[in-house]
Amino acid sequence: MSTAPTTNVTGGCLCGAVMYEVNGPLRRVVYCHCEQCRKTSGHFVAATACKSKHLTVSVDDGLRWYRSSSFAQRGFCRLCGASVFWRPDHEKHISIMAGTIDSPTGLNAYGHIFVAFASDYYSIDDGLPQHDESSQEGRTHFEE
Ligand SMILES: [Zn+2]
Ligand SMILES: [Zn+2]
Repeated sequence: MSTAPTTNVTGGCLCGAVMYEVNGPLRRVVYCHCEQCRKTSGHFVAATACKSKHLTVSVDDGLRWYRSSSFAQRGFCRLCGASVFWRPDHEKHISIMAGTIDSPTGLNAYGHIFVAFASDYYSIDDGLPQHDESSQEGRTHFEE
């Protein structure tokens, strides 16, 4: 996992019923244009990731999990609807929606994945790498 120097961040959903801390390295942000990410976020997803052991969910009153595929679930706030986490079943790492992290995050972006599934109302022209599907095996999804 390629990591950014950030080692301690906090974040949460819009209403505060889901709050978390990360004490460990964060992956660079990946933009995912797959249909699941579009449907759940309303656009495309920007997500970092950390090792599961480095994530502490300090407030989970609103946290619910939706099984979005055969190998992963998505964590969201049942009160405000925020999309917060993407968690593969192996639970070695967890993806965190970058917009839920309190800024400044200290993060930068790696590039785009699943661009073959992007919708037609926007263009991807920031010069970052683009991958038709995942940048590694399809199952790794948010991993670089
Ligand atoms: Zn909330
Ligand atoms: Zn996706």
